[in-house]
Amino acid sequence: MEDLSQTRILGVRVDKVTKAQALKAFRGMLDSPGCSLIVTPNAEIVEKADKTPALKSVIEGADLVIPDGIGLVYASRLKGDPIGERLAGIDFARAALEICASEGRSVYFLGSKPGVAEKAAANVAAEIPGLLIAGARDGYFKPSEEAQVVADINASGAAFLCCALGSPKQEFFIADHRSELKTAAAAGLGGSFDVWSGEVTRAPAFWQEHGLEWLYRMVRQPSRLKRLPALPLFIIKAAIRR
Ligand code: UDP
Repeated sequence: MEDLSQTRILGVRVDKVTKAQALKAFRGMLDSPGCSLIVTPNAEIVEKADKTPALKSVIEGADLVIPDGIGLVYASRLKGDPIGERLAGIDFARAALEICASEGRSVYFLGSKPGVAEKAAANVAAEIPGLLIAGARDGYFKPSEEAQVVADINASGAAFLCCALGSPKQEFFIADHRSELKTAAAAGLGGSFDVWSGEVTRAPAFWQEHGLEWLYRMVRQPSRLKRLPALPLFIIKAAIRR
């Protein structure tokens, strides 16, 4: 696989990838041995990783670290080591699903509240011709059920595991079971199933294109408003710290 250029924000690895490069890397993963790990950090996850060495090391050992947040782009610019563009994990995943469909590789949706993964899978399958859904299940299982969850994913024959358990649960789940997982790739995708299922509406294109998706989410979900001061503080902290 091609070596991707990287930067570090608060010491946490982030790859400087365009969408085309990320998808090329994904294609390579489908034909590489073992289960490749894709993570999609935003500012909040990078802050979490800064305080949680185990998460930081999972991100460090991933095969692809996609810059999911505009905060990462601004922080990298201020540091003088710019990430070219934000690549939303959900946009990457959607394009990766198209690749799976075109190659006849099936996918498994794991995560979100009961019924949401199934609905998300049905909706994207209706939009992407030829997409094969190998299986889907919710993300509210007990630690004692994890072995069975992994067995179900493996039995499904899926090549790509879309894992939407929230962070850091999804990153730890994939990292903990990476050696047993028979999928060619697994990605942590946060709230993507909530969007694909129609439970949550994404910001209109204007907000996305102007780096304001985070603001739209706060306006729509006022419980997120308490995080409002966090983004500028993150950018300043990340720019100052080498
Ligand atoms: N989620 C899950 N299992 C859990 C906790 C969360 O499947 O134990 C799902 C949740 O239903 C949602 C997704 O993970 O669909 C992302 O959750 P949230 O928005 O809270 O996390 P974030 O992506 O902001 O870290």
